[in-house]
Amino acid sequence: MQKIDEIENLVKIISKLPGLGPKSAKRIVLKLINNREELIKPMAKVLADVYRNISRCKICGTLKSNSIECSYSSCEMIDNKYDKICVVENISDQWSIESSNIYKGYFHILGGTISSAGQNKEDLLVSSLVERVKKDSIKEVILATSATVEGQTTAYYIQDSLKNLDIKISKLAQGLPVGGEIESLDDGTLYSAFKNRTGLEEDSD
Ligand SMILES: [Zn+2]
Repeated sequence: MQKIDEIENLVKIISKLPGLGPKSAKRIVLKLINNREELIKPMAKVLADVYRNISRCKICGTLKSNSIECSYSSCEMIDNKYDKICVVENISDQWSIESSNIYKGYFHILGGTISSAGQNKEDLLVSSLVERVKKDSIKEVILATSATVEGQTTAYYIQDSLKNLDIKISKLAQGLPVGGEIESLDDGTLYSAFKNRTGLEEDSD
């Protein structure tokens, strides 16, 4: 096949997406090219819109429209007032927990974990978590990081950062499979991990 730069570049980018390799990327590119008006044109527009208008909140870590100003007292785009924050690594973890309907409260998205090498602490939104806990009158912080070495190291680091505050800190129950990432858990496992979270028995919903 004749090498066409534009196509090669598109295949390269698409094969970086989760679950896609070069083979499926080529199929997608072919589908796009065969549907210029229906797919490529609107896709180019919505991608540009997302690039321009959507970013991560520097306080709670969630995705937000740039037109929304986050502040510590009204950071998330929800009307309810809660006294719990669930700390997760990525927004996909938040989506898993939300769709299982087991938890009602705020979320805080760290944006990753502390690597085993102990770097990148600064990249995680830990100091903004501490500020939120203070300013939002939070009573419980639930650490829902993965059951991996990095996830547990991160949980320990956060626990340490919160130690001087008068709040309950709980961790998802040990029922999590070792190496388990939150987003890959089924609802039943998530439910029991939340229900049986350690550090808070009398008010566990
Ligand atoms: Zn926010």
